[in-house]
This record gives sequence, C-alpha cells and structure tokens, in this order.
Amino acid sequence: MPNSQINPAPVVYRGRFAPSPTGLLHLGSLVAALGSYLDTRAQGGRWLLRMEDLDPPRIQPGASDAILHSLEAHGFTWDEAVIWQSQRQAAYAEALERLRQTGRVYACTCSRKDIALSARHGADGPIYPGTCRPLGLPSHNAALRFIAPEGPLVFDDRLHGRVVCDIARELGDFVLHRTDGIYSYQLAVVVDDAEQGITHIVRGSDLLISTPRQVALQQALGLTTPTYLHLPTVLDAAGNKLSKQTRAPPLNDADPLPALLTALRFLGLSDDHPPTTLAEFWPWAIERWSPQRLPRWRGTPL
Ligand code: GLU
Ligand code: ZN
Repeated sequence: MPNSQINPAPVVYRGRFAPSPTGLLHLGSLVAALGSYLDTRAQGGRWLLRMEDLDPPRIQPGASDAILHSLEAHGFTWDEAVIWQSQRQAAYAEALERLRQTGRVYACTCSRKDIALSARHGADGPIYPGTCRPLGLPSHNAALRFIAPEGPLVFDDRLHGRVVCDIARELGDFVLHRTDGIYSYQLAVVVDDAEQGITHIVRGSDLLISTPRQVALQQALGLTTPTYLHLPTVLDAAGNKLSKQTRAPPLNDADPLPALLTALRFLGLSDDHPPTTLAEFWPWAIERWSPQRLPRWRGTPL
C-alpha cells in the first residue's frame, strides 16, 4: 500500500495571480489575489505570479516593483520565480506560428475608424466584420486576427455554471498580434497559463468576457483548459468598477490588515472575532475559505 507520508500525492492545483503593471494594486486587485490565493492554499496547491507587462505604452514606471512589494507587505508568498510577459516574445511568436500553420490566422489592415464604421457593436466593443479575411493580405504592417470558431463554445465556471458563447457572432475574429508588434492579452495569457502549468484560474468577473476566446485558443493550440472561477467585481460608491484607470485608491502597504478583512468580507466570509495581526490572518482565512459563500456578481465593499 502506498504510504502517503513517504509518497505525497502530486500537487494537482496550480493557481496564479497575473497583475498588469499599469498602476498600483487597489481593493479590486486585492480581492482577485486573495480569492485565488485562498482557493489555492485551501487545496494545498502552489501559487504563482506573473507580471503582465505586455503593453509598454500602458505600463506605469515603477508599478511592477510596487506591486511585488505590496503583495509581500500583505503577506502573500509565491512558490516559483515570477514570469514576466515582456521576456516571453519568443513563446508568443511560436504559438502564433502554430496557429498560422493551421490556417486560423489572417492579416488585417483595417483602421480603428474603418472598423467603427462597419461593425456591429458587441459586448466587448465592435464585432470585426471579417472584411480582410478573404483578401490574403501580407502580414507586414498589419494586425493578425484569429478566425473565431462558429457555434457554441462552452465551458463551466465554478460560480456561474455553464457559460455558452458563439464567439464568431458575439465577439468576432479577434487580434493576436497588433500592428504595432504587440501580442494580445488573449494570446499571451493562454500561452503563459500553459507554460506555468496552471490548473485553476480564479480572477475577476470583468474577465469573463475574455474566457471563451481563451478557451478557443487553448483548443486550437491543443492545450488543456483550466478550471475557472470568476469572482464578483468590486464597485465604488457610484457603481463603477474599481480600476487603475478610474484611480481607485492604492492599497496601504503600511497597514495591510484592514483591506484584507474588507476583501474577505466582500468574498462572502464573515469576520466575527477577526484576527488582529497579519500572521494570524492567513491561517484563519485559509481555514474559512468557502467558495460556496461567494456572491455571484458585483457589489460595493462595506
Ligand atoms: N493582467 C490581467 C489584469 O490585470 C489579468 C489577467 C488574468 O487574470 O487572466 O486584468
Ligand atoms: Zn481588416
């Protein structure tokens, strides 16, 4: 009989947090980091970090270091070296080439204005009408688009249940590589989740709109689809999503406990007799983690 102490079960849970260094972390980012972290640790998994510094014009100088510092100050620990998307161009190029060889990619020279004038508007902006698809344009100075699958694409979310999306109809052919040479978030995230062996993705429900495109890319690249859990989105008092763009107040690294307790309440866990130190907070929160208690959508933190 196998002795579980000598041969521990292999770790089958690998979670991650993947911030973009476009600004400092705020309460909305903390909710995503905390949800992913608690879910990982409660299942004995490994937690990884990826810096999504993919889009130089949007990066704020110093933000990557500030984010790492802030995570440390709040008591998060990660199990492997941080992956930086800025260093991963070769992997994205290789994935793009594989997709191209299967005939799923074409060059598009439409301007934003062309698209705005010709497209229907969908849940994530204009639905590209496929103008360039039959033209066989050269890829030089062009965006490269993925031919969206037609018909229902289905995946299961642990909170939202079965999600069905007809990508071709609802979102259209989407960009993998921009005219300015930058790889898209959709492609990079799929390549990197596979590279890091991520089995469970826990992130904000603002990204639920992107997940069908990511699952379609996983299928086209022959990659395993991870398990998804999209957490409720934190809104400010005016009902807007907290974001770096709307200048959500940054976390206070000098006093991390109050924000952690607020984030935990937001995730549906009550805090009667809350811990009074960071060291007590973590084991207490991991033990109480209970995804069944999550509210489904959005709300303002109390
Ligand atoms: N970098 C993305 C963001 O900060 C998150 C990506 C993800 O979790 O898939 O919104
Ligand atoms: Zn086009």
